[in-house]
Amino acid sequence: MISAAPHLADRLKQVSESRTTRISTLAQTLRRQGRDIISLAVGEPDFPTPEPIIDATQRALADQQTRYGPVPGEPILREQLAEAFASFGYDRDNILVTNGAKQALYSLFQVLCDPGDEVILTRPCWVSFTEQIKLAGATPVLVEAAADFQLDPECIARAVTARTCAILVNSPNNPTGAIYEPSALAETARLAADRGIYLISDEAYHAFTYDGREHHMVLASSPDPRRVITVRSFSKHFNMTGFRLGYVAADKAIVLALARLQSHLTGNVCSFAQYGALAALRMDPAIVAQRRAALQNRRDTAEALVRTLFPCSHGAGAFYLFPDVNACLRAGETSEDLAERLLNRAGVAVVPGEAFHGPGHIRISYGIDETLLRRAFKNIKEVL
Ligand code: PMP
Ligand code: GLU
Repeated sequence: MISAAPHLADRLKQVSESRTTRISTLAQTLRRQGRDIISLAVGEPDFPTPEPIIDATQRALADQQTRYGPVPGEPILREQLAEAFASFGYDRDNILVTNGAKQALYSLFQVLCDPGDEVILTRPCWVSFTEQIKLAGATPVLVEAAADFQLDPECIARAVTARTCAILVNSPNNPTGAIYEPSALAETARLAADRGIYLISDEAYHAFTYDGREHHMVLASSPDPRRVITVRSFSKHFNMTGFRLGYVAADKAIVLALARLQSHLTGNVCSFAQYGALAALRMDPAIVAQRRAALQNRRDTAEALVRTLFPCSHGAGAFYLFPDVNACLRAGETSEDLAERLLNRAGVAVVPGEAFHGPGHIRISYGIDETLLRRAFKNIKEVL
């Protein structure tokens, strides 16, 4: 039978597939075919999901927490999440539980942006931001980062137009591992408040700050907290990537609007998974602290190894490094080609900078054990 090309909406034609998810799937497929692949590609440390989370999820299943639930999330979970925001006067109505931070962000752009509106963000940036903004009919306006991939509030101020509806910041940052200076975040928050635009703060990695640094909440530095929307995730914080659990903390009117959309989009997030999330919030914080310490050691190892090959900014947070590979590219070669060469010849999966609007770089996720990290870099060195 002849299969005709499907007719697809224009909306989808201008959006490309997520390269982070594509490369990690490719690495898994190659492994299944028997290839020895070390993946430094996906943003997912190799730690298991902590037992208290598994136990609580299993108990919830046994207790038949398997039905439709309230669209914005289980009340008990929303209440528990609101506690971290109590000093801002938040209660459970300021919280919406989502299918990962990914869906939280998607829904936010749908709720905040009209066609033709603009959202300002700093590049390099996580793959899905620009595509989600386009899916809402809006335009992503990419501004350059300052030195060491820091936030540049002046550059952001220059990019604001009458069509700007939101500024998006992400600290700790994917793909660079940078943590933004609180002063730059405060200046950006002031700018958003002065201009009456929303400041979306993607804090998916807020648990991963190293060298004793505290996470800085953007909400705390805004003269108008109603303009700040915080997005967080259980995925990396508690090694629950497959649970698909994130949340938005925001002004109640925004949460209501998001819930209205969610009531047509997904309904509630998986009921029993939310009980796993509740257990995550209540478990001994030492579990996450130990993992953070282990990741800091891996960061030290990875950074030292990367710097024997490429110039690389310090990875202060998250679990990514974003080295500059320009000096290692052959004539005409892009970082995308280099990533392919590393996969085929070194058996090491990395994500090319192009995926993050940062060509000339590769993203290294160092969430794997140190022996594997060392072997990956030995292989890369041989190929280079
Ligand atoms: N924001 C950033 C910056 C990310 O790197 C990711 C991927 N972990 C997400 C949001 C989405 O995370 P999730 O949907 O797994 O909660
Ligand atoms: N956010 C992670 C990453 O950047 C997971 C994959 C994705 O959803 O993009 O690798």
